Amino acid sequence: MPADLRSTDRIADLRSDTVTRPTAGMREAIATAAVGDDVFGDDPTVNALENHVAALFGHEAALFAPSGTMANQIALQLVAPPGGELLAGADAHVVTYELGAAAVYGGISTRTWGSDGAQLDPERIAAMIRPAGYPSVPTSAIAVEQTHNLGGGGVVPLSVLRDLRAVADAHGVALHCDGARIWHAHVADGVPLAEYGALFDTLSVCLSKGLGAPVGSLVVGSRERITRARAIRKRMGGGMRQAGLLAAAGRYALDHHVQRLAADHERAHRIAEALAEFGVVEPARVRTNLVPLDLSKSALDAPTLAAEAAERGVLIAAMLPRTARLVTHLDVDDEAVDHAINVLSDLLA
Ligand SMILES: *Cc1c(COP(=O)(O)O)cnc(C)c1O
Repeated sequence: MPADLRSTDRIADLRSDTVTRPTAGMREAIATAAVGDDVFGDDPTVNALENHVAALFGHEAALFAPSGTMANQIALQLVAPPGGELLAGADAHVVTYELGAAAVYGGISTRTWGSDGAQLDPERIAAMIRPAGYPSVPTSAIAVEQTHNLGGGGVVPLSVLRDLRAVADAHGVALHCDGARIWHAHVADGVPLAEYGALFDTLSVCLSKGLGAPVGSLVVGSRERITRARAIRKRMGGGMRQAGLLAAAGRYALDHHVQRLAADHERAHRIAEALAEFGVVEPARVRTNLVPLDLSKSALDAPTLAAEAAERGVLIAAMLPRTARLVTHLDVDDEAVDHAINVLSDLLA
């Protein structure tokens, strides 16, 4: 493969795990993929990926979508009707980063339970549920995030998710998992994907974050729901034609890039341990590939730290004025981690 297809010129890009570029093996899989017209249901590579992902989570069906946001929004329309209510954390991706899509596209009303990241409290959530038949918005669904993005990549324990499933069952509401990084939870906690799958009515999962595919997410659920999902996707403009090229990359990612996430978690932890002395991160809280930096007591704010690090070849994300974030992924090796630790230690000292 020509070097310029992947070369990063020794820049350590830790802004997000979305910045990965396809590996040589993945490009080979893309180049040789069998394709058809997926809007006609004719693309064998898309169909195989959908069946494979459904089986991984122990569900009947899955649908390939162009982004995690669209996968979430299709799923939310499956579990909450217009005028229905979604309960979610205030710091959830579906609340914070999807630009009001549940309201805009689904007519869904959202109520939040506060910013507690992966620290879910099923009893508190249960107390928020409003039944139909009263003069209030009836609760249709609950959404949780695994791993939790703004919660610093935190993993919701399986026991808590089981309690939440019991709450959902007791009140007859649906449970959706924004599982953009559910692979990271699976690797960090050793919970089988099917065990997660069994707890949710719908899941969205992402192939283009840490798994390294260029594009693609899936909605997972029952056959009935995924049949409806196909129509919703088309309505939202997400029907794709020879999408097998993308699905081939996703399948390659699932076959080759899941277990290696453990290395990303180790590298993230190494960064956290190295930067802990500056009081910006608690290593014990870094469970997966996200390293949030709390700069509330630092001389540098997040945009300044990011700008100064960038000048020295280390890209990090300024998430808020006093919060920065580093993310390890497929394109961050030990050398890049060492470089990032050196540069950030200098700047934070
Ligand atoms: C990235 C992400 C998504 C989806 O993002 P897209 O950029 O639309 O693919 C959804 N949920 C979480 C938690 C994410 O981190």
